[in-house]
Amino acid sequence: MDIESYRKWARRAVDWTATYQSDLGARPVRPNAAPGVIAAALPDSPPEDPEPMETIFADFERIVPDGLTHWQHPRFFAYFPSNAHRASMVAEHLVAGVAVNAMLWQTSPAATEIEGKMIAWLASALGLPGHWSGLIQDAASTATLCAVLTMRERALSWAGIAQGVAGGPTPRIYASAQNHSSIDKACWISGIGQDNLVKIPTDASHAMDPAALRAAIAADRAAGFVPAGVVIVVGGTAVGASDQVAEIATIAREEGLYTHLDAAWAGSAMICPEFRPLWEGVEMCDSVVFNPHKWLGANFDCSVQFLADPVDQVKTLGLRPDYLQTLGQSEIVNYSEWTVPLGRRFRALKLWFLLRAEGLSGLRRIIRNHVAWTLDAHDRIARIPGIEITTAPALALFSFAMTAGDAATRDLIERINAGGRIYLTQTTHEGRFVIRFTVGTIDCTERDVMEAVEVIAEAANPGRTGP
Ligand SMILES: *Cc1c(COP(=O)(O)O)cnc(C)c1O
Repeated sequence: MDIESYRKWARRAVDWTATYQSDLGARPVRPNAAPGVIAAALPDSPPEDPEPMETIFADFERIVPDGLTHWQHPRFFAYFPSNAHRASMVAEHLVAGVAVNAMLWQTSPAATEIEGKMIAWLASALGLPGHWSGLIQDAASTATLCAVLTMRERALSWAGIAQGVAGGPTPRIYASAQNHSSIDKACWISGIGQDNLVKIPTDASHAMDPAALRAAIAADRAAGFVPAGVVIVVGGTAVGASDQVAEIATIAREEGLYTHLDAAWAGSAMICPEFRPLWEGVEMCDSVVFNPHKWLGANFDCSVQFLADPVDQVKTLGLRPDYLQTLGQSEIVNYSEWTVPLGRRFRALKLWFLLRAEGLSGLRRIIRNHVAWTLDAHDRIARIPGIEITTAPALALFSFAMTAGDAATRDLIERINAGGRIYLTQTTHEGRFVIRFTVGTIDCTERDVMEAVEVIAEAANPGRTGP
């Protein structure tokens, strides 16, 4: 493709996405495509000869949009949001165009230096200690893997990277039963193993039981295991559960364990000082991850890992021992030495555009609206006959179910989602099938949230009007 064709088609792509987003509310949130239909619309082998862009673009319009779940839809209340603020989309176009690989400082000084600045800006915006550093990862799962590998190596005095983990002392990781599956996966990948991820029971508020954590660590030491680290959660994926960060981090410090705080979703809300009590004690943690690509608005992928001190993680994942000697003294940072992949996208630009286009005040307003509308929706849904709230609002997430039981709740969510006006997802909570309701899409308005309440009320009581 020559430069003039690129100019034409890139403009066409921007026009297409602008129209797509402006008309999104008219589409069903989730496609009703049958499995295999999209794949069947494509030929079985690649074309031997070039095809005109007109045909390629027309096929995109014909085949793809109807096969999408529209994550930017204003009435998407499922999972957690995966936002795409338009200022960050503009930055992503530029990043695609300059197409640099930000693996080392010298492979694009601007990418590394803006990344460092964005980490500092976000630490300040979230009320974290000013001396913390960090990096932008693709996903929270990667940050958690890096933290678990660091826990392993610290506990083994860095023998694991040299000798492997088979046959040596067995590190143990602790997390609550509310933790995300990415912690299980990090334990598989790191060679620690599922059996050495100790799931600590939770109390009535779904927070890790501190006494049970202490007891588990003591029992493991007595049995010859090596307690290595604790993964703390704030705003868990299922129902938004949060551990008591200060209490758990205090135990970890006393026991000499490394701490990683998973606030993948809830971390964005910490730009609002009134929500910070939810992670009180965060400054005692060693590593903290949150996803600006979830609630803050940076388009996917953009996960920020803060580190109180990067030395342990760089010692675990950096392949240049000489480099360690200059760490902290040199202004040169090679972020690939802080993580698993060598090649890295220039993800900092979308944060720079986003933070400036909205300002912290704009982002706070968006998050506060989402929380306020969630509380309102909660109060209205709680009054719908036949429905009961199963978990109270945690920031912008709560869950509900049919009082008649799991079969009725399952039937309710299937009918709601088939209708296409809103999209909700489910989880299992205390053995029950429950429906999650979370507000977080940038283009969502109060009117969209109220429409969701109407849809739920109608589906729960067909024929009746009004919640
Ligand atoms: C979404 C989520 C994750 C996983 O995030 P990815 O960026 O998709 O890896 C982990 N933990 C929690 C609490 C989450 O909400």
